[in-house]
Amino acid sequence: DPYRIDIVTIFPEYLAPLGQSLLGKAAERGLVTIGVHDLRQWTDDVHRTVDDAPYGGGPGMVMKPEPWGRALDAVRPPGTRLVVPTPAGRLFTQAMATAWAAEPGLVFACGRYEGIDQRVADWAAHAGPVSEVSIGDYVLAGGESAVLVMVEAVTRLLPGVVGNRESVEFDSHADGLLEGPAYTRPASWRGHEVPPVLLSGDHAAIARWRRAESLRRTATRRPDLLARAALTEADRALLDG
Ligand code: SAM
Repeated sequence: DPYRIDIVTIFPEYLAPLGQSLLGKAAERGLVTIGVHDLRQWTDDVHRTVDDAPYGGGPGMVMKPEPWGRALDAVRPPGTRLVVPTPAGRLFTQAMATAWAAEPGLVFACGRYEGIDQRVADWAAHAGPVSEVSIGDYVLAGGESAVLVMVEAVTRLLPGVVGNRESVEFDSHADGLLEGPAYTRPASWRGHEVPPVLLSGDHAAIARWRRAESLRRTATRRPDLLARAALTEADRALLDG
């Protein structure tokens, strides 16, 4: 069966890019099915209202629980993970993308305004796992762009979506480190040279150099990742060398 993704939003057109590029091809080839649903179809008043003032006061509006309850009753297969993007969530990681890609599918609930009434995520836990996740330490206007990010990260890990398995396995974050720099022809460009080892044909030397670059780049740009990475003696020697 294809991997099944359902997205509930008040801006369905915002998800149009999912039909493009790698993901569009994966859908054409039957590897992924994506359903985008307008939350307003589950409202029950003439104004199709999805928000209301916050209990306890304060600025902004909160998304009402009733349309969300009906939407999830309709689109979420029992047991399927519900993903709720929120800047107040746990940080979305490559490890999550890998774990989610091994599940049968995902349902995404895109918040707007000040977010969705908390009882939606709390209630939804009775029917399967619920993940409240953030894509980074900044605040977006809505969950749609966060969903585009997560769907792309998950679907490129599905079997058959990316042609070359190795390109996925060696990516930054796959092993907890950043990937080093990449080069292509010409060997000399505007006074900048490709590192000579890459032209040497010595595969062991190239592998060592790539590992060293990966370690050095992670040390400089993301010391937090390096601190958590499982390094070998050889890695430590490369880092010090
Ligand atoms: N009042 C919320 C808070 O401070 O936690 C902010 C709500 S934000 C303006 C509106 C919506 O954008 C959120 O419900 C969520 O869907 C989405 N959003 C904003 N920043 C995000 C982030 N870093 N990661 C994932 N989703 C985000």
